[in-house]
Amino acid sequence: MTMRALHILPAYSAYIRTYALLQRSHWWSREELLAYQAEALSRLLDHAYENVPYYRRVFDERDLVPADIRTPGDLALLPILTREDLQENLADLKARNYPGSAFEYVTTGGSTGIPVGFYYERGASRAKEWAFMKTQWDRVGYRFTDRCVVLRGYIVGSARDDVYWKKALFGRWLVMSSHHMTEETLPAYIDRIRRFRPRFIQAYPSTAVVLARYMREHEIEAFPTVQAVLCGSENLYPWQRSLLAGAFGCRVFSWYGNSEQTVLAGECEESPHYHIFPEYGVIELIGRDGRPVERPGEAGEVVTTSLINPICPLIRYRTMDVAVLGEGPCSCGRNYPLLEKVEGRVQDFIVTKDRRLISMTAVNMHSGVFDNVAQFQFYQKVEGEVLMRIVRRPGYTEADTEQILSELEKKFEGGVDVAIRFVAKIPRTRRGKYQFLIQDLPPDRCGLLEQACGDESG
Ligand SMILES: [Zn+2]
Repeated sequence: MTMRALHILPAYSAYIRTYALLQRSHWWSREELLAYQAEALSRLLDHAYENVPYYRRVFDERDLVPADIRTPGDLALLPILTREDLQENLADLKARNYPGSAFEYVTTGGSTGIPVGFYYERGASRAKEWAFMKTQWDRVGYRFTDRCVVLRGYIVGSARDDVYWKKALFGRWLVMSSHHMTEETLPAYIDRIRRFRPRFIQAYPSTAVVLARYMREHEIEAFPTVQAVLCGSENLYPWQRSLLAGAFGCRVFSWYGNSEQTVLAGECEESPHYHIFPEYGVIELIGRDGRPVERPGEAGEVVTTSLINPICPLIRYRTMDVAVLGEGPCSCGRNYPLLEKVEGRVQDFIVTKDRRLISMTAVNMHSGVFDNVAQFQFYQKVEGEVLMRIVRRPGYTEADTEQILSELEKKFEGGVDVAIRFVAKIPRTRRGKYQFLIQDLPPDRCGLLEQACGDESG
């Protein structure tokens, strides 16, 4: 047997086991889900205490043992794990009961600018992830044999030969470059997609939007074979959702998760609210007062405990994401807890003069006001002030500037002074994403948790 086969077999069985669990559990009652989660959490805590030096220390320092934490609510007895904590204690977060060869080092840049490294279990972590993803995509009819166009921040091909895509996964996926999409090349992209006849488009919302805007403006017909656009890895703003649904003439399906594997939640057949997998992790929403959010419609910062990656346990991991609690149960019949929406990273907020946080969801780029804008990006370094970088289209005039400023004035309710600067180009991030806001305030000035502390002391 080859080395490769040795890795594939355990992965296949981890996939099958997880997928089989999810086939049963997604119709469990609330009580059954809670019981499953409580048991998985208690297994995780016992394991962390026995095998993970960092957590042995955390428990000992607080005179706690795993049995003191009986429910997810009791997790508040343990400290929050920040990205900095994770980086500083990585060696001590490795579970001692795994062989060295089982550790796969993974890094994520994310939009926070703080690169984070952690470990997956070789042959297990990615397979489990796939089982959860497949379970979500099943809800819009995805099958492994389906043709899929992938628009997710890859650099493929070069301008020299005018080919900006390549096939993958035995020809079933057409991976297209997100770095070469321009007014000049987009007709070729569209032609290639049409000939490929995909059933699904997997995309970063910001990348799919470039294609969708072009199609809308040139009144190009939707791809008749596409059943849904599968959007992940970035926050999906409402204006992006309606633009994508309109241009592609199909359902937009999005999910919310992270590479650290602490949280995963996705839409269902009937609702765009995110259904949180309790089998994947324990999620806490911490409100501005530092207490758990309990009322639907309220926002909190997402703090998560992974139940699926015991090789490097992340307990009460601070994601820096902000989400709004949803009201369940969903009409689809699943009893998963819901998030009404994810407002994005803590850094996705503009901070006003009086320190209110304004989500980027408030800025609707789909509206007519931005018709003559090719791209924009906000940059904030001072509370109550933003610089808006704009790439103009040929028809842009002074009237557009006035309209944009008055629109933003309304959105920001006078709490933010906006300066506009015209630029030739807005570079994408290293991972090929468009960033609508570069938040350059010190992080603790825009974090809900810190804000809660600040409010108490003030
Ligand atoms: Zn549902």
